[in-house]
Amino acid sequence: MIKRVLVKFSGEALASESGFGIESSILDYVALELKSLVDIGAEVGIVIGGGNFIRGVSAAKSGLIKRTSGDYMGMLATVINGVAIQEALEYHGLDVRVQSALEIKEVCETYINRRSIRHLEKGRVVIFVAGTGNPFFTTDTAATLRAVEIGAEIIIKATKVNGVYDKDPVKFSDAVMLKQLSYEQALKDNIKVMDDTAIALAKDNALPIIVCNMFKKGNLLNIVQQNEDAIYSKVANLNLYKEIK
Ligand code: UDP
Repeated sequence: MIKRVLVKFSGEALASESGFGIESSILDYVALELKSLVDIGAEVGIVIGGGNFIRGVSAAKSGLIKRTSGDYMGMLATVINGVAIQEALEYHGLDVRVQSALEIKEVCETYINRRSIRHLEKGRVVIFVAGTGNPFFTTDTAATLRAVEIGAEIIIKATKVNGVYDKDPVKFSDAVMLKQLSYEQALKDNIKVMDDTAIALAKDNALPIIVCNMFKKGNLLNIVQQNEDAIYSKVANLNLYKEIK
């Protein structure tokens, strides 16, 4: 079993079909999937995106809002999502702390690495919000950074698809899922499992990236328990690029 894990999911995962806001039934589902990991004794860190509210790049498109301000708006959006997940997890009886890369002390703790590790050791879920605290980064990079900092064994990038495909599975019915690929291959083939900064950081620290469908019930648990029926793609340190169908 994986003892310490960081789960990253995008803000849009919490939204309804429109892609905006937070849908309470989805929030509840996500909370229960995460709870199943804590229930078996896993130490769980979470990084949540903010794309269901705003992304810096899109906010800056009109020219009215500067990219840096747009990025700070995006980081604040992740705080809203983090507080929502905290509430949902607490509703289900878990102990949770939100730690922010930006200081917002009326809302949550400020990120302090040693303190987050202590929380994890005590069985508390730690939700890392406000990304890295810096503009021009993404929450994928924040997730990889926090995963490395807390010594997570793996990072799970929870998405709406089963894993990494050779082409867009939504558009192409013959798309093949790649069960394993190397960091080098992901970077070389521009496979946007995560952005390049995040993949490079994972590569430098030999942190395996597991890409999975969070809407397949029990999948997160199967991955953490290392059950054979877990469905995912793994980006890791492979000496040889392997594609297993
Ligand atoms: N962001 C940032 N620095 C970070 C993390 C996030 O500036 O370290 C901003 C950026 O504008 C980004 C937004 O926050 O677009 C929301 O994060 P992201 O797009 O990664 O969310 P997701 O797509 O995962 O929902």
